[in-house]
Amino acid sequence: MKITEHIKNAKGKTLFSFEIIPPQKGQNIQTLYNNIDPLMEFKPPFIDVTTSREEHIYIKKEGGLLEQKITRMRPGTVGICASLKYKYGIDPVPHVLCGGFTKEETEYVLVDCHYLGIDNVVALRGDAMKHESNFVPCGGGNYYASELVKQINNLNNGKYLHDIGTSYKTDFCIGVAGYPEKHFESPSMESDLRRLKEKVDAGADYVVTQMFFDNQKYFDFVKAARSIGITIPIIPGIKPIAISRHLNILPQIFRVNLPDTLVREVEKCKNNNEARQVGIDWAIQQSKELVAAGVPVVHYYSMGKSSNIKVIAEKVF
Ligand code: FAD
Repeated sequence: MKITEHIKNAKGKTLFSFEIIPPQKGQNIQTLYNNIDPLMEFKPPFIDVTTSREEHIYIKKEGGLLEQKITRMRPGTVGICASLKYKYGIDPVPHVLCGGFTKEETEYVLVDCHYLGIDNVVALRGDAMKHESNFVPCGGGNYYASELVKQINNLNNGKYLHDIGTSYKTDFCIGVAGYPEKHFESPSMESDLRRLKEKVDAGADYVVTQMFFDNQKYFDFVKAARSIGITIPIIPGIKPIAISRHLNILPQIFRVNLPDTLVREVEKCKNNNEARQVGIDWAIQQSKELVAAGVPVVHYYSMGKSSNIKVIAEKVF
């Protein structure tokens, strides 16, 4: 079922959902299930599965020389989605990237999703590769998420990349990313919102936000989006701090700000157990306020660990 239908069917009740990251290749999928199982009691109608960009690895050759190779360390997004759909009977949402994929490869991924009965995808640009200063699309690939949304929407209208004499239509519900604190590359919040509107105009059905730690940022973002005619659901994304080092890692990777009250609380912690508890308490407070404000879904970034999200969900859902 489409995310938008789940939201409609909930009739104003806030839903619980979360995002998982595929395991590194060479690992057993059971580890993933062990993290998902404890969250099933909160009846997530959907689970997002990220797609990772390719990266450089170095293989030691005879004589100590290093050979550079490009590989994807966490492949398997579509396979994991299929396994979630058939194991748990819930809607998996694969993330589809511009980065690292030609438009043809993207079309194949979408056709696979369609055959598997996957109704939802999140369309994202992806970040630059680690050695690149700017995002560079793969030869002939989509540059911005809005172009990817257009490609998916074209398939929904029976328009494939090359005229193949058929017009069989897919029916994907399309999610896109939104940034309550602005995307880091964008020159201004207003410009970033106009870019978001382009994704909506291209066919996006709902927005999921980057993590934020101050709900006011989300409320302001929703208000600004509504004021420029974005009417689709805007799902807030929440990441509980789990270790003290998150104070540095999260701003570095996700370009987000942490409120000073939260920073001070974590800095007071003597160990990671205490920091984890501060993160849980903060996320509970954020989630309760969001539910009270009537958000359609609270979406949690699990980043491979679910035990803290279970504690939060027990208090909120
Ligand atoms: P876009 O919407 O394309 O925007 C990127 C930047 O370009 C923005 O600054 C925007 O303002 C600007 N822009 C847009 N259109 C134009 C234009 N026409 N001209 C000039 N500037 C323009 N990354 C992954 O690798 N895998 C994942 O699974 C993943 N999941 C994510 C899930 C969520 C909910 C979020 C919020 C992020 C996720 N990311 C993921 C990270 C994401 O790929 C990065 O944040 C990336 O840098 C931007 O992606 P986007 O889809 O928002 O890009």
